[in-house]
Amino acid sequence: MSADCLFCQIADGRLPARKVYEDDRVLAFHDINPIAPVHILLIPKKHIASLLEIAPEDKELVGHIHMCAQKAAQVAGVEQDGFRVVTNIGKNGQQTVFHLHYHLIGGRQLRWDM
Ligand code: 5GP
Ligand code: ZN
Repeated sequence: MSADCLFCQIADGRLPARKVYEDDRVLAFHDINPIAPVHILLIPKKHIASLLEIAPEDKELVGHIHMCAQKAAQVAGVEQDGFRVVTNIGKNGQQTVFHLHYHLIGGRQLRWDM
């Protein structure tokens, strides 16, 4: 946990979020500024700054996030038509929140530039 991290605060309930799915290790919630009809963020409750900081002991957790993405897609009703899962890293990746998160985007036809 990082005291001043926005997504740590959402993960431990200090800040509100519209939850889609939650278990002991992962939280999925609606993005506050959606770029598509479905725009969900999946985060580990453990503070990891980005994909670059994933450690060997996090491998099972990262796999579990992918299983949670399946569940979130089902809850959101996008699994039939398809969707996108992406994580931004650093400056050129336009990462703005430095707590690992995966965007699950769908509900419309996506282009590669979104
Ligand atoms: P990034 O740009 O780091 O890949 O994505 C950060 C995402 O977090 C953005 O899509 C932004 O809209 C979302 N976001 C930022 N602050 C909040 C917040 O307080 N609540 C929620 N639900 N999403 C947020
Ligand atoms: Zn954090």
